[in-house]
Amino acid sequence: MVFDCVIVGGGAVGLAAACFLGRAAADTNKRILVLEKAPRVGKKLLATGNGTCNITNIHADGRQYHGTPTLAKRLLAAFTPTQAMEFFASIGVDCVVRADGKVYPAGEQAAAVLDALRLETAAYGVQTRCECPVTALRPTKDGFALTTPDGVITARQVLVCTGGAAAPSLGGSADGYRLLTDLGCKKTPLFPSIVQLRTDTAFVRAVKGIRVDATVTLRLDGNELAAATGEVLFTDYGLSGPAVMGISRAAADWERKKTGALTVALDLLATWETPALEARIAARSRMPGRTMEDLLTGLLNKRVGQTILRTCDIALTRAADSLTNEECARVAKQIKNWEIAVVGTQGFGGAQVTAGGIDPSDFGPDTLCHRRYRGLYAAGEVLDVDGDCGGFNLQFAWSSAYAASCAIAAAW
Ligand SMILES: Cc1cc2nc3c(=O)[nH]c(=O)nc-3n(C[C@H](O)[C@H](O)[C@H](O)COP(=O)(O)OP(=O)(O)OC[C@H]3O[C@@H](n4cnc5c(N)ncnc54)[C@H](O)[C@@H]3O)c2cc1C
Repeated sequence: MVFDCVIVGGGAVGLAAACFLGRAAADTNKRILVLEKAPRVGKKLLATGNGTCNITNIHADGRQYHGTPTLAKRLLAAFTPTQAMEFFASIGVDCVVRADGKVYPAGEQAAAVLDALRLETAAYGVQTRCECPVTALRPTKDGFALTTPDGVITARQVLVCTGGAAAPSLGGSADGYRLLTDLGCKKTPLFPSIVQLRTDTAFVRAVKGIRVDATVTLRLDGNELAAATGEVLFTDYGLSGPAVMGISRAAADWERKKTGALTVALDLLATWETPALEARIAARSRMPGRTMEDLLTGLLNKRVGQTILRTCDIALTRAADSLTNEECARVAKQIKNWEIAVVGTQGFGGAQVTAGGIDPSDFGPDTLCHRRYRGLYAAGEVLDVDGDCGGFNLQFAWSSAYAASCAIAAAW
């Protein structure tokens, strides 16, 4: 049996494309098949947004993308976040827009998004085969032959959407890069993004498990590379949390080149000006009966405050009123700029997305159809496009799935 289209990968792109193509093929006898390597489709989708699925972002317009941002801009203009929300409403998932532009399914359940995609796919008769990895792809006279453990499957058109190398425990794999480079497609270097940072842990380990709100600034040889404000989590290997993940792409890029010294600076009281903070610490030091142990308690998390004093070489057993003017200035400065050496990242294992990938210049920018192998398409994270944290990566998944699906259906 020859399939009209085989979708390789049942993740965000593959399932959305299955819906778009299923609808386009309604009342025709077109045969569409999704091949998924894992025992179930959409494993990564289930983990998105910590199980709540940050489905898109109303501000997504191309500026939040890296690698090939021009492609993201073009595809997002043709299938916008508003269209994505309309699509999800049409399959039964109403969306809620938060004040910062992030969009979630009402009910905040990634499982609901996956269920809706699966139900819609099945309703249009799209077939799905799990535990069926594609190990080779070769062009034939009138389409493509896909090698799988179930034997060779033939298709007139093929959409490769195997995702990236990030989060292998959730199905991240390099298979798609190999399938496409074996056909001569170019690939740019891969590195993790939206990933935790490994740092000097001398003081960080003492506060592991504590979450704070901070402004984080990544600096290379003292020059600012990226900054973000939000939650930071101290861990036994370094730093995690949304603000850290948000600036991590530049750190991962540095990690593969390792030139210069990279630091991350925490401003633990970003709304305070340094002189006012200094005055407040001085006033606190004059409160009766205090030792340094409690100098910052109530201004900062107790353990974080004590760690700040340790980084300033101030013994916690000293009386608080022994704080000198110079020490007071040092503590205020340290709270505003606690600079920690970055060692690296947690790699693809901890990353949410892959930076780099298949060079899209081998594919039409509106159709995602290969320029030489007509009928071959690629979409989603397998391409050299990655977005910032905040719903931008899933929006690229929906937009690129839509572009490829429209072109596939137009060729029928
Ligand atoms: C923990 C986590 C949280 C995230 N949270 C968010 C979020 O809230 N918002 C957001 O925008 N983005 C988020 N992302 C990123 C987002 O999930 C991805 O960018 C998106 O899923 C990419 O879609 P994709 O279809 O290209 O790849 P995937 O969703 O990874 O799907 C690829 C599929 O292909 C399958 N596959 C691989 N090789 C083969 C093969 N040889 N044969 C057959 N099948 C194969 C895989 O098993 C997988 O199911 C998160 C990522 C992670 C890891």
